[in-house]
Order: sequence, then structure tokens, then C-alpha cells
Amino acid sequence: MDSALYALIVNAVVAGLFAVAFAIIRLSYPGQRHVTWFVLTYLIGGLTPISEIGVRLTPFTTPFMLLSYGSFLCSIALLPLGMAAMAGRRRPWRWAALLVLLGIGVRAAIWNGPRNELWYEFAYQAPFAIGSALATALAVDAVRRRRGRLWLALGIATGLMTLHFLIKPLFAVLFGSGASAKEYAASSYALFSQSIGGMLIVSVGLLTLLLVVQTALGRSIAEAETDPLTGIANRRGFDRRAKAMIADARTGDQPLAAILFDLDHFKRVNDQYGHATGDAVLRAFARLLVDRLPRSAAIARLGGEEFVALLDRTTLRGAWLGAQSVRATLPEIASHLPAITISAGLAELSADDDLDRLLERADRATYDAKRAGRNRILPVPDPVSAWADSAG
Ligand code: GH3
Ligand code: MG
Ligand code: MG
Repeated sequence: MDSALYALIVNAVVAGLFAVAFAIIRLSYPGQRHVTWFVLTYLIGGLTPISEIGVRLTPFTTPFMLLSYGSFLCSIALLPLGMAAMAGRRRPWRWAALLVLLGIGVRAAIWNGPRNELWYEFAYQAPFAIGSALATALAVDAVRRRRGRLWLALGIATGLMTLHFLIKPLFAVLFGSGASAKEYAASSYALFSQSIGGMLIVSVGLLTLLLVVQTALGRSIAEAETDPLTGIANRRGFDRRAKAMIADARTGDQPLAAILFDLDHFKRVNDQYGHATGDAVLRAFARLLVDRLPRSAAIARLGGEEFVALLDRTTLRGAWLGAQSVRATLPEIASHLPAITISAGLAELSADDDLDRLLERADRATYDAKRAGRNRILPVPDPVSAWADSAG
């Protein structure tokens, strides 16, 4: 078996393996619908080397030539659609459709053109170069938006692929791409084209696969750390962020404070208005916390009707002001919802605190606020109580 044929078989098998790998991920993570694009990219792309083998070994040259070009064109047009979906961008439908139309038009126009002429070879490769340049642009955009190093690697791989399509015409002219499709398939140019192309297909496939897995894991983690009722973090998500914030506060020698909120007599809200209304109150309260507290705060629902906020660069006094702002806005929470009040407990991070001890103190303060008659925030920091005393 000659080496060009061997390279074609390797490429067909590799494309098939990637299609299977993407299909398995698609089935294992039902939320990852964008992976379907990559299944199609590699499934259809795999038809290219298979049809080139058809050109070599069967008398059906024209149908296989058409299939080879058409499948590669579709595969290159599908790749940017998948990449855009994975990056959370709008799918470039128009570009993909234009690319396919352009490819069909160009291929028809040069159907019996002079192989080995630079303009002919360039026209042949141009749609592929444009498609992979589009994929590169999407990767560059993702890098700019700080989506991570894997996108940078994918951008480099698709950039090299674009370069490959631009250099191919020169190689074809220099080394000869064969006078006919059959001669091409046996030429050393075909071997060059198939092996470099194969390496690029593997690189792009591998990096895309890694990105798909990374995205799927990231989404599972985000889901596991989110409270489904309110959409804010749950205890697990809070713990992870809080530990990092405490470490940062220690390194930067900055203050940090926690507020524990407990809705007053919430059982009555459920009893009087029903559980669904209770749920709506919890959702509205979570939204209020997000609106009123600083963006850098870690806000979470600890369970039931208990919420927590961890405020960086904040002293007990700052936390009191933040909690007051929440308490003061409560009557405006939503006109169609029952009026509620909250009790809150504050604690500021001290030298020998860990997260548990900090929350324990805030919890004790919440209990004090309940016992003192609810609808209040404790402890009241010194300057505030001095001010309140003088005002009173
Ligand atoms: P207190 O002022 O002492 O905090 O009284 P309370 O009624 O708020 O406190 P208690 O702990 O006795 O009751 C909490 C109630 O919160 C009981 C439970 O029905 C309700 N609750 C817990 N989770 C949910 C939820 O997901 N949805 C709704 N609607 N209610 C919930
Ligand atoms: Mg409670
Ligand atoms: Mg309560």
C-alpha cells in the first residue's frame, strides 16, 4: 500500500474516532447541545478521505470528487458554528451559508480548470482558508474575552490550518498536483497535503474535545453550586468563594465581614399565603440582596429562609450599613408579595477566625436579634450606637 493511501485511511479513522468521542460527550452531558456541531464536523469531514480513496480505487471518479470537495466544505463551515456555540456567541449562520455557496460556485467555475496553475489551486483552497480563518477569528475573540488558554491553543491551530490552505497552492505548483484527480491521489503533493492536514485535524479535534470537556465540567460545577430556587449560590458555592475571600483578606491585611439574614416568621407567610408565594418571597429577597450589596460580595442561600453575604474590604460598620440598606428596602420588595421583616447578625473576621467560626458568631448575633424582638441587625457597631444614643 502506498503512503498517500495510508495517510487517507489514517485520516478517515481519526475523523471517525473524533466523531464518536464527541457523540459520547453529547450523550453523556445532555445540556451540551453545541457538541452536536462537532459530531457533524468530524462525521462529514471523515467522508473526505473516504471519497479520495474512492477516487483512487474505483472508476467513479466524478461522484467521489464531488463528495470529497462537498464534505470538506461542509465540515469547514460547521466548525465555526460549533465554536461560536461553545464560546457563547451568536452562530455565524450567514457566514457558514455564504461559505458553502461560495465553495460550490468556485468549484463549479473551475471544474475543468488547469490544475497546477497558481490561480486554479488558490481558487480551490480559498473557501477552506476563509472557513478556517472564521474559526480563528472566533478563537481570538474568545481569548480577548479571557475564556482561557485552551482557546489560545485552538486559535493557533486554526490559524496554522488557514496558513496551510494558503500555502498549499504554492506547493501544488512547485511539486505538481497531478494532471487528473487520479494522478493527484498518487502524488507526493497529496501525501504532503494529507499528512499535514491530518496533523492539523488531530490538533483542532483534540483541543476542541478538551474545550468541550472543560465547558461541560465548568457547567456541572456551576450547577452544583447554584441554588435552583433563587439562582444565587448555595452553601457549596459559598464555601468555595468564602474560603478564597478569607485567604485574600489575610494576604492583603484587609477587613472582611459576614451578614447572616433570617426572614422573620416565615412559616406564617407559608401558612397564610401558601408555599408558592413563600417561594416568590425567597426569590425576591435573593434579588434584593444582589441589588443592594456590592458586586464583589459573596451572596448565598444557606438553606430554608437563611441567607448569607460575605463582604470584602468591609468592617463591622460597613456590614451594618449594607444590612440596613437591605432592611430599609424590604417594604419595596414587590407590591404583590406579603410584607416581611428580617433579622440579621454581623461578624467581622478576626485574626484567629476560620469560616466556620466567623459564621458561628454571625449566627449567634442573629439569634440575639430574634430574641430582642426581630426586625433588627445586631451587633450595632460602636460609632453607630454612639450616634443613635446622642440622637435619642
Ligand atoms: P423566625 O422568625 O423565628 O425565624 O420564624 P420562622 O417561621 O421564619 O422560622 P422557622 O425556622 O420556624 O421556619 C422556617 C420556615 O421556612 C419553615 C419552612 O416551611 C420555610 N421554608 C424553608 N424552606 C422553604 C422553601 O424553599 N420555600 C418555602 N416557601 N418555604 C420554606
Ligand atoms: Mg431560620
Ligand atoms: Mg426565620
